[in-house]
Amino acid sequence: MKKILIITLAFLFNIAFAATDWDSEAALKRVNTIGSKLLKANNVNYDINFKVSNEADINAYANINKEIYVYKGLLEYVEDDQELAGVISHEMGHIINGHCAKQGILDSGIATVASIINVNQTVSAVGQQLASSKISRNDEFEADLTGVDLMTKAGYNPLAMISLLNKISGNYIDILQTHPSGKKRLQNIYDYVEYNYNSKLKLGYNSDSYKKAMVMLQPTIDKRKNSERLAKKYQKAQQKLLKKKEKRTKKMQGTNSIWDGYYTTLQYLSS
Ligand SMILES: [Zn+2]
Repeated sequence: MKKILIITLAFLFNIAFAATDWDSEAALKRVNTIGSKLLKANNVNYDINFKVSNEADINAYANINKEIYVYKGLLEYVEDDQELAGVISHEMGHIINGHCAKQGILDSGIATVASIINVNQTVSAVGQQLASSKISRNDEFEADLTGVDLMTKAGYNPLAMISLLNKISGNYIDILQTHPSGKKRLQNIYDYVEYNYNSKLKLGYNSDSYKKAMVMLQPTIDKRKNSERLAKKYQKAQQKLLKKKEKRTKKMQGTNSIWDGYYTTLQYLSS
């Protein structure tokens, strides 16, 4: 009896593994666990649903229905759960700041996606994407910083976001040097962490990608430390962001958000 059971189990396992090497259930559980942790720790009152997609692309997106999709390719690409939390919190940032809804409104009710830079794109395509629109680039900057807040409150290391974005942007330093917007995005995150979560910087982040990002950012950081004018400019910019953060926190925890207003309008338009 025991023998038959073992053979049966082995057979079933074989089928399972032969059919697919991708355990979508485990992947969904992983994404859901991190997503729920981020929502709960930050008292986010939105009903966000997390999904996984069986596609090899290194991609993730948030849509108008408050769904966050993480692709199989990205799940396999992230170093650890910290980096995955970076992706999920960035996408949550798009939802919380109403970016998907805003784009939906602009597209007359058609749900659009806000995706992170797709690593499969060519270098020039990434450059074009970065340069395409000031609004969407600002949206990326904003989603990154919201993501940093969400991560930190949930006990994740926000530096993991720098590590992941640097890796996703392609060949580490090379591509970012030709596309300064990429460096600006990393600098934006670094400055925000330095100002708001200084103790996290001392912890560092143990990845090759983070170390390479820091080699790139260090000259700018040093320059600021040695210039009163640049230090003041930095302080002022961060104080402005702090005010934005206060607004965002209120929005995040309120059920009657601007986002919900957009969402209701869209639902109405498309019904
Ligand atoms: Zn994004």
